[in-house]
Amino acid sequence: MIEVKNLVKVYGINKAVDNLNFKVEKGQILGFLGPNGAGKSTTMNIITGYISATEGTVLINGYDILKQPEEAKSFIGYLPEQPPVYMDMTVKEYLIFAAKLKGVKKREILGDVTMAMESTKLFAMEDRLIGNLSKGYRQRVGIAAALLGKPEILILDEPTVGLDPKQIIEIRDLIKSLAEKHTVILSSHILQEISAVCDRIIIINNGNLVVDEMLEDLNKNIADAQCLVVTLRTSKKIAEDMFKGKDYIREFEVVDSADSGCVDVRIFFKDSADRREDVFKLIVDSKVVLLQMYNDMKSLEDIFIEATTPVYVEPEVIVSDETEGKVCLTDEEYDEDDIEEVEDDMDSETTEEDNNADKEEE
Ligand code: ADP
Ligand code: MG
Repeated sequence: MIEVKNLVKVYGINKAVDNLNFKVEKGQILGFLGPNGAGKSTTMNIITGYISATEGTVLINGYDILKQPEEAKSFIGYLPEQPPVYMDMTVKEYLIFAAKLKGVKKREILGDVTMAMESTKLFAMEDRLIGNLSKGYRQRVGIAAALLGKPEILILDEPTVGLDPKQIIEIRDLIKSLAEKHTVILSSHILQEISAVCDRIIIINNGNLVVDEMLEDLNKNIADAQCLVVTLRTSKKIAEDMFKGKDYIREFEVVDSADSGCVDVRIFFKDSADRREDVFKLIVDSKVVLLQMYNDMKSLEDIFIEATTPVYVEPEVIVSDETEGKVCLTDEEYDEDDIEEVEDDMDSETTEEDNNADKEEE
């Protein structure tokens, strides 16, 4: 199990990770999602002991990654964002070298390297120079290196970045097969990737955890948020009476529409059956004009965008009497003559610039 507690990482004045807390249970496939610069790599580098945290702790199966690094690291296989592969080594040479670096026992090295090449389907390439491999195969070498020492946990930082679509599918399938026997943390800025592979999603933004849910629950929330929207030329009262007490409707809300004299009704149903015909008949029976009807579908993308888009907060206007640090002029201080003077100056400057520009053109 991985426990991340109160994790903070500060670079100069920039807080890359801002008080992160989460646990990953054994066997879980956790998707670590966030836009570029969100703090994913920094967090993964701290969890794997590559860099230290400014504050907070990481426990791997109870071992502190800073205080008991050898024990803690023995459970982890890490594929960093830029895998440190050597271009002038063959695949097999590199994996033997990586196994030695990792402290795999001498008599287990060949067995581990064979197992890693088998899991990542690298046998056909074992004698090829890494420098001559495609990026997809190089990524497999990085993943194979992470498998050495048979770690229980795999941490993969954006494993499909820079790959072509065919290679992406191959690496995703590889990760899925590895997930059967490992606990996996997989980072990505691509939502489809995470939802295709993971059973839990964490979204981080500006170093903060903004979503932490099982994919199943997220999908259920998304299904519950689906609704049918109808625009009707009628009053709120009539619309409310129309939809009240219908056994297939879970809830509905009536709001003023952008079209004047009309209302928009958002209808949420009790089950996932298609109710468009029922709603249409209801409207026709009530002799109300229907202007439009559409399904409002929320998607995982919407959740990601909502969670990672900053909310614009209107700044407070401060009226200050102090001369220093003046933010805004009070009515008495506002002098129209001053403003006109400034505007005149600006006009004359523009004219001069324009003249110069005209001359240059000539
Ligand atoms: P992600 O992997 O989600 O794209 P990172 O963890 O790489 O994000 O970066 C998080 C933030 O920390 C970014 O603003 C990045 O510029 C900054 N950062 C990362 N590494 C360093 C570093 N070594 N020195 C200074 N700032 C860094
Ligand atoms: Mg990164």
